[in-house]
Amino acid sequence: MSLIHAQNLAKSYRVGDLEVPALKGIDFVIEPSSFVAFVGPSGSGKSTLLNLVGCLDHPTSGKLTVLDTDVAALNRSASAEFRGRHIGFIFQDFNLIPVLTAYENIEYPLVMVQNWPAAQRHDRVMSLLDAVGMADQAGKRPDQLSGGQKQRVAVARALVANSKLVLADEPTANLDHDTAYRIIELMRKMRDEFGTTFVFSTHDAKIMREAEVTFTLEDGRFITNPPSHHD
Ligand code: ADP
Ligand code: MG
Repeated sequence: MSLIHAQNLAKSYRVGDLEVPALKGIDFVIEPSSFVAFVGPSGSGKSTLLNLVGCLDHPTSGKLTVLDTDVAALNRSASAEFRGRHIGFIFQDFNLIPVLTAYENIEYPLVMVQNWPAAQRHDRVMSLLDAVGMADQAGKRPDQLSGGQKQRVAVARALVANSKLVLADEPTANLDHDTAYRIIELMRKMRDEFGTTFVFSTHDAKIMREAEVTFTLEDGRFITNPPSHHD
C-alpha cells in the first residue's frame, strides 16, 4: 500500500477574475518510510503541493490519497482532525512558540490534540529531545537557541505525536549550508529510527541530493529528473 498517491492532481488559485494555475496535473506515488524531496525554483508549485498533501488546502481537480484517505473529500474539521492525527509539519521559519521552552514546544501537540496523561507525556518529550540531541537545552526559549537548534526542536515537535508523515516546506532555507546538511541528516536518521516518511521541499540542488527520491517541479509540472548523484 502506498502512503501518498496523486493522480492528475491540479490546483489553481483564483485572483480576481484570473485563474492562476499552480499545479497542472501531476502524478506520483510515495511509499511508506521513504525520504523524498520536491525540488524546483521559487514559484514552481512546491508549497502548493505540500499544502495539498498536508490537507491545508483542497485540489481543484484530480485525486489525492493520503494514508488510504481521499483527502480532497474531507471537510474543514475532518481535515484538521486528520492532520492532527497523522501529519507533522516543519517550516522554513521554525514556527516555534516564543514564550514556550524547547520542552514545552515539543509537548504542545500532545497537550492540544492527543491529550496524553502527564507522566507519559513527559517520557515522550524527553525521548524526542534526546533523539534530536537537544536534551541539555530543554529549558531554553527559542530566542536563546540557534537556527539549527530551533529546527531540531521543530523536528522533535513534528514527530512527538507519532505522525506517519512529516512534511517540511523548505526546512533549510534559513540555515547556513553545514547546518542545513545536519538538519537533513537528522531527518533521515529519524526516518531510519521511527519509520516516519519525510517529504521536504527545497530549491537547493545540493540539499536535493540528500533525498532518496526526488521529484522536480517546473511551472506546476514534473520534469524528468537528472541522474541521481547518490552513492
Ligand atoms: P513555490 O513554493 O515552489 O515557490 P508556490 O506553490 O508558492 O511555489 O506557488 C506556485 C504558483 O502559484 C506561483 O505562481 C504563485 O505565485 C502562485 N500562488 C501561490 N499561492 C497563491 C495564492 N494564495 N494566490 C494566488 N496565487 C498563488
Ligand atoms: Mg514555497
